[in-house]
Amino acid sequence: MIEPEYLVKQKDFETWEVAKFEASDSPTAVYRIVRDVKGRLRCNCPRWLRKGTTSCKHCAMVEDYINKRLQNERNERARAANDPSFK
Ligand SMILES: [Zn+2]
Repeated sequence: MIEPEYLVKQKDFETWEVAKFEASDSPTAVYRIVRDVKGRLRCNCPRWLRKGTTSCKHCAMVEDYINKRLQNERNERARAANDPSFK
């Protein structure tokens, strides 16, 4: 069996989509993750809905995606600060 691949995309300020691909160019599933008023990520996958769990792998992927973007922005700023052409 081929391991599924996932692609995270930001749709809106507090909305993300995680698309699941299994040996095909079109996704076999797309999950929608939103941040609720308490700041928690909510998913619409069966696991999240059934158990009312506060986390699933899709939420973890979105969390990871957000952290990486923050890290990239920090790196960009650090680079700009060290680049004399920006001064
Ligand atoms: Zn999920």
